[in-house]
Amino acid sequence: MKANVTYWLDETAKRLPDKTAFADEKKEISFKELQRQAKAVASQIIAKSLFKKPVVIYLEKGVDVLVSFMGAAYSCNFYSPIDIEMPANRVNKILEVLDPALVITTSVLKKTFEQYDYQGDFLLFEEACEAEVTQEEIDLARAKGVDTDLLYVLFTSGSTGVPKGVTITHRSVIDYTDWVTETFAITEEDSFGNQAPFYFDNSILDIYSTIKSGATTYIIPKNLFAQPVPLLEYIREKKINTIFWVPSALIVVAKLKAFRNVDLTDTLKRVLFCGEVMPNKQLNVWRKFLPDVLYANLYGPTEITDACTYYIVDREFSDDEPLPIGIPMANTNILVLNEKNEPVTGGETGELCVRGTSLSMGYYNNPEKTKEAFVQNPLNPHVPETIYRTGDLVKYNEYGEIIYLSRKDFQIKHMGHRIELGEIETAVSSLEEISLCCCLYDEKHQKIVLFIEEAPDRAALGQDVPDKAYINGRISKLVPEYMLPGKVVALEKMPINANGKIDRVKLKESMEGHSA
Ligand code: AMP
Repeated sequence: MKANVTYWLDETAKRLPDKTAFADEKKEISFKELQRQAKAVASQIIAKSLFKKPVVIYLEKGVDVLVSFMGAAYSCNFYSPIDIEMPANRVNKILEVLDPALVITTSVLKKTFEQYDYQGDFLLFEEACEAEVTQEEIDLARAKGVDTDLLYVLFTSGSTGVPKGVTITHRSVIDYTDWVTETFAITEEDSFGNQAPFYFDNSILDIYSTIKSGATTYIIPKNLFAQPVPLLEYIREKKINTIFWVPSALIVVAKLKAFRNVDLTDTLKRVLFCGEVMPNKQLNVWRKFLPDVLYANLYGPTEITDACTYYIVDREFSDDEPLPIGIPMANTNILVLNEKNEPVTGGETGELCVRGTSLSMGYYNNPEKTKEAFVQNPLNPHVPETIYRTGDLVKYNEYGEIIYLSRKDFQIKHMGHRIELGEIETAVSSLEEISLCCCLYDEKHQKIVLFIEEAPDRAALGQDVPDKAYINGRISKLVPEYMLPGKVVALEKMPINANGKIDRVKLKESMEGHSA
């Protein structure tokens, strides 16, 4: 039995020492070298007497991040990646929640990190990966670790402006990866084209399927996702046969019909996607050009490691039909509960709740938010048993497959990113020029729309109304770029409903009246 994901790396490094494990734009690394460097990093972490402590990885996306992840895992500590493009304010909020014991970075990036609210220890990657391996210390650490110890914490948007740290254990990743590699028959013959940032849960599939099965993952340069033809050429050149992308990335390719220029018939074998709704309109373009590929819609939140239901596309769909999110994965149970907390019947709508080994332990250092979403299974009054309430509204179709309908709250998906509209509102509200604001999502035009009410004395003072460029310029220091509103509507007076709250329904209706 495996209690730590690094045992997979040990096995694969033994079986396929010289095979490329991961490659980025600048370098590639074999399984043996990945293992050596990760153990070197682990030895340095252990030398600092850290065990079961949070380790921040602050590095440019690439092979070195994965070495650091494995280093943290070998040392029986847990990693949390922070994107180097994240605004300082948000990094500080994450640091406050996580209170890391160590930051792994480079000598160059350390200078940036030193400006954040962190007085702790650093490990310079370029030195640590060349350090001596102290195998006995690693063995001792792993002997003390258990499979329910944390492997990582990934931060997602929080409605109050404080990001939530989703905690995931070794056991959860082992359970999920076993399912992925068995279901899609992943072997060392396969190669992945990674799109997902490493701070996003979709990357777990690429990373751990590769380490377990001996496949190869090519980290696709981010700029290629804006250029479909070079993107497909890259896939062909690297002989990538499996991709697991967010639908937004697949949609760009479908819209520009890049397949007319690049034939991937003999290259691509599996197209998997997860993270947001995949419209059949665009999937049908993929299916038309690449009919022999296996397509699968995976569904799930970060809180269930990555995904908990799946649908392998096995029949025709018209452009306007919804694509099912399918059936539960092995060792995962889905409960669709109505407002009375009873299982739905027939085609009734309910909230998708999930239980299983791949469930998160909760939000790091956040008992309140954990208590709201991770609750006792209402169908089991006998023993403590946690289910996670996803906030996703779903129903069953006539085939017994689950159909995703909408959200219960103000969480949205924009270009594959999970965003709490409240986090944007909190940032905008901090600007002194704005007295009231409300954010909505325009699904049709895929735009975040910000409604603002100006501070009452501005007009009297003859001051300009803050516009999109001004607001985005200010809040870009508070929220990531993907959260910036695509449209700003200034109102003299914000509509208020009978409860005295901002009337979101009226704003939504008015949005439908506005052109994009
Ligand atoms: P994340 O934690 O970033 O993976 O986001 C999880 C949320 O994304 C879910 O709760 C859903 O609202 C949405 N989501 C994920 N996968 C799908 C899918 N296949 N279809 C529709 N929505 C999805």
